[in-house]
Amino acid sequence: MPKKAKTKNIRRRISATTVASNGRFVYPFTAIVGQHEMKLALLLCAIDPNIGGVVIMGHRGTGKSTAVRALADLLPRIKKVKGCLYGCGPDRVEELCRDCANRFSEEGNLPADTGAVPMVDLPLGATEDRVCGTLDIERALVEAVKAFEPGLLASANRGFLYVDEVNLLEDHLVDVLLDAAASGRNVVEREGISVTHPARFVLVGSGNPEEGELRPQLLDRFGLYTQITTITDIDERVEIVTHRESFDNDPISFLNSHLNEQQKLRRKITRAKKLLARVEIDRELLKVIAELCLILRIDGHRGELTIARSARALAAFEGRGRVNSSDVQRVAIMSLRHRLRRDPFETVDSGVRIEQAMREVVPTPSAASRLAMVK
Ligand SMILES: [Zn+2]
Repeated sequence: MPKKAKTKNIRRRISATTVASNGRFVYPFTAIVGQHEMKLALLLCAIDPNIGGVVIMGHRGTGKSTAVRALADLLPRIKKVKGCLYGCGPDRVEELCRDCANRFSEEGNLPADTGAVPMVDLPLGATEDRVCGTLDIERALVEAVKAFEPGLLASANRGFLYVDEVNLLEDHLVDVLLDAAASGRNVVEREGISVTHPARFVLVGSGNPEEGELRPQLLDRFGLYTQITTITDIDERVEIVTHRESFDNDPISFLNSHLNEQQKLRRKITRAKKLLARVEIDRELLKVIAELCLILRIDGHRGELTIARSARALAAFEGRGRVNSSDVQRVAIMSLRHRLRRDPFETVDSGVRIEQAMREVVPTPSAASRLAMVK
């Protein structure tokens, strides 16, 4: 087969979303070496957006942004109302924007299309107008109408909002994000326009801890917190370099060689999303989670909620209808690490503290299965 035709053929096999909006190929998620905690956290948030997003802290060049962009490529397409600026879901009547709600009450149904789950970048230097939306100046001048020009929060509705260097985000933008994340809506009142629209998104942040801390209010908003470190295993380091080189030299062949694994993971996510609502968690296990948060002196109840939701998402990911104690163990550190009270004299790493507490309260999987057999 001539080379050109062969390339075209392979290209056809690669999903359309594998090419990012900037025209570049997206590095496949399944080719990311190591960093298991980060990958798991991203997958769990994709399965259950109610977990509340994830912040990934680690040094530069540890592949944080690559992983976030790779995640977008794995997500199943969603139904969207045709022509809606906010990508409303035609089946989610309670979350419709005003235009869609009016259309629905007049026509009784909404014309739909399918589209990719949005993955929107929020650049550090973005203005509030760009984030929240503002008056459409062109239409104001040309047509003399006060129309709303939607911002990044509108584009991110029902998808992901990604903030790299989230710890350097200006305070006024942090406030905007906190408001929208809490209410699921964006309210714009300025320059004579008054607009409210749905803005439900999963917040994903990344940053280098050496460049500053996150504001506690923002930190608490994130469901999960993962730390990534530079890999020290020699074989894994070599694999990172060889993978990256193959991808840069011949992205199509590289993507093609990961096609099957990518498809498998995509199907697994789709199945997990369907199964999620049916996954059960025993009251006994909920008690264990509460006890864990209690002995770690975690304020509020967000810690417990996050562990329970993440453990359910993990069980769904692995195709199980019931959460077990091992699920709890695997998600507890990323759910609680950023909620521990800071003790200036504490020298033990927060992950180690959580592990110690887990040994006290969480039954080992073998003990848990014995318990299940007794029942
Ligand atoms: Zn709409």
